[in-house]
Amino acid sequence: MANMAVDAAIPDSANPVILGAGISGICTALVLQAVGFEPCIVSKYIPMQQDSVPQFPAVPTDYAMASAYPHNLRVENLPGLSSASQQVFKHLEQVQNSGVSRYRIFEVYEQEPTEPPLWQERINFQRFDGKPELLRKSMNVPVRREAGQIWGWSFDSFFADMPLYLSFLWKEFKANGGQVIEMELNAPEQIESLCSKRPIINCLGIGAKTLFADSAPLNIVRGKQVLIPNTPMLKADGELPFAYNYTPSPEIFSRADGNSEYVHFFARTGDWLLGQTREPGQLNKKNEWVGEAVLGEYVDLNGIQIPKAILTLNEELLCDLFGVTFADRELIAREGYRYYRDPDGEGVRLCAEQFGSGTVIHNYGHGGSGITMSWGCALETARLFVEIADSNNVNRKITGGENVSGEASTLKHVLKSQFQTFQANKTEKALAALS
Ligand SMILES: Cc1cc2nc3c(=O)[nH]c(=O)nc-3n(C[C@H](O)[C@H](O)[C@H](O)COP(=O)(O)OP(=O)(O)OC[C@H]3O[C@@H](n4cnc5c(N)ncnc54)[C@H](O)[C@@H]3O)c2cc1C
Repeated sequence: MANMAVDAAIPDSANPVILGAGISGICTALVLQAVGFEPCIVSKYIPMQQDSVPQFPAVPTDYAMASAYPHNLRVENLPGLSSASQQVFKHLEQVQNSGVSRYRIFEVYEQEPTEPPLWQERINFQRFDGKPELLRKSMNVPVRREAGQIWGWSFDSFFADMPLYLSFLWKEFKANGGQVIEMELNAPEQIESLCSKRPIINCLGIGAKTLFADSAPLNIVRGKQVLIPNTPMLKADGELPFAYNYTPSPEIFSRADGNSEYVHFFARTGDWLLGQTREPGQLNKKNEWVGEAVLGEYVDLNGIQIPKAILTLNEELLCDLFGVTFADRELIAREGYRYYRDPDGEGVRLCAEQFGSGTVIHNYGHGGSGITMSWGCALETARLFVEIADSNNVNRKITGGENVSGEASTLKHVLKSQFQTFQANKTEKALAALS
């Protein structure tokens, strides 16, 4: 019966069906529309459609800040996927109302750090170290008052202001004729029934684990954060919007293993996000996080325990640079879960698999980098789908850069051209491996 309900809800023209409406699902859908397919998204819940305290910590798309600069993730072809993502963000930065803009980020350490991942790929990357007061004056570096020597770097990063960004992406999807069905999937038979008719794409995040009986190890890194509504934008040197990750010495803020925990600040349009812990753990049978909570004092905000250092250290840093405080401001606590699939093994699942009589293409398990890597992973997922569609002679619309009303969509155009480049690079690499 449940199978019939899912099947009946999906239009005959839909191909493929994408499961999950988080960032992975919507980006994959947009790439496939750009190359002429008519994806339909099925999901129990659409992120960012509610108020400032999301209901499902296990749907991280609701909690991402979201910075998008090259950094680590366990996935095949990390540099290629990262660079493809950066190209799309670079385009979106130029698109009015996309919610994507460029920020200046400072990453500051009170102990000498190791080399940051993919730093050569970061924009305007600049290292610094020295005495706090000099760096604060010369470069507007955020520094704790009692800090001794500090180290770090600044660079420019794309940032997705998630409420604006997701609303922009959904508008694009719908303007291209995209359909979405809100429905929970709860049995593998439903998936089998769906994919017996056309390939499906799995962007279910943690929901994929049970539906696809994935036995790969997982790590759920909890992120506690505080949202402060009705705030002004803050700019570095009066130019770019400003953000930082600040890692104090461990006696100020530390993880369960005794290493330093960092605090984070990011100003969005109309609110500030303060964060955010990185606490490794698992989900229990009730889908609640159990693991290694950060150490130190906590405060209770709207029923959620928040490490006090997130408030005190951020307030000190912001007060010294911009003269702002949190007094008389509303503080809203939130906590979301980053799902790292098989963090020490194969990592993100980005491959095609036979499922019953059909095929499923997986795209899930992106940990704390799902926004950053979204376009690269979507391009690879679409490439895998197109391989299958082409070998089955699936028709597609000839597509230019316009939507169903005939209006120009520059994003569609850019995604189509990125897809062609991506596909050509993959073919070239495969041929080189054979020769
Ligand atoms: C506090 C925090 C801060 C973060 N900051 C950043 C950042 O700055 N930069 C960055 O790149 N990343 C960041 N991330 C990580 C990023 O948010 C995730 O990697 C990304 O959102 C994963 O998206 P997804 O679409 O793959 O999965 P999800 O967001 O989990 O979406 C899965 C979708 O599948 C649906 N679904 C699941 N199960 C079912 C089912 N049984 N039936 C039907 N539908 C189902 C869900 O409703 C949802 O729509 C952060 C995460 C957290 C928690």
